[in-house]
Amino acid sequence: MKLGSDRGCVVDTSNHAPIPSDNRVCYASGAAFRPERVRPHGILWEGLSPLDGAPIVAIATCGTNNRKTGDMVQVWILRRDVEPHTAVRSGQDRSICGDCPMRSKEGFTGRGCYVQVPQAPFSVYRAYKRGSYRPVYPEAFKGRYVRWGAYGDPAMLPHWLVQACNASATGWTGYTHQWRYEWSEWARGTFMASVETPKGEEAARRAGWGTFRAGRVDGSDIGRAVLCPSEGGAQCADCRMCDGRDVAVFIPAHGPGAAVVPAERLSRR
Ligand code: SF4
Repeated sequence: MKLGSDRGCVVDTSNHAPIPSDNRVCYASGAAFRPERVRPHGILWEGLSPLDGAPIVAIATCGTNNRKTGDMVQVWILRRDVEPHTAVRSGQDRSICGDCPMRSKEGFTGRGCYVQVPQAPFSVYRAYKRGSYRPVYPEAFKGRYVRWGAYGDPAMLPHWLVQACNASATGWTGYTHQWRYEWSEWARGTFMASVETPKGEEAARRAGWGTFRAGRVDGSDIGRAVLCPSEGGAQCADCRMCDGRDVAVFIPAHGPGAAVVPAERLSRR
């Protein structure tokens, strides 16, 4: 692990080693560093994707107008070396989204993900490249609610990082499509397995995961899952059922992606 890169942030080249606490100084300013007084807004971690070893970054931002989540710190997981929309076109977004079926082999064509990549993720990436973000440490999450993976899959991050931030935070939500991989097992009990079909839900539940599934628009395939309270107007910041707990959550599919992803692609899951 190398601490204190040219941009003043922590680069974790081993991908899994924790930051030694005695090294927690503010590299950017050289000033005495009080992590608990810093807003959770900046570079949380830079390292390598556990899937393909590509350079990735986790950036936390405050101040969201997302009506579904409510007031939560948003964590963006991006490629460090390529603009997010270019990564979607070239398939390099696999480093941060893995095998999520909402991706498409043809870039934006046939893509079902609700995230508007050329908008918020690109703004965050541009600010990162401009050097607008300072390092932010887990203590800064104190008293906050965290949404892991406003874009990107949080299982791509190291366990120690998520654990340290969640230990400070008041609550969190997160979803992973990587639950079939052995290397993502640490995320069971912390994030929900994101599943697409009742079959996938069953498999993930058997493997001990809490699940989140977007089903038919009319909700007819809810089965024994619990309806996401956002359907009744609740916000994630208040609900926080998607914190890895042992429950199956269901939401009727919505948004443009619901109609775009071919049923055949999902039925394989
Ligand atoms: S179940 Fe709760 S935390 Fe999960 S998506 Fe719905 S409102 Fe958000």
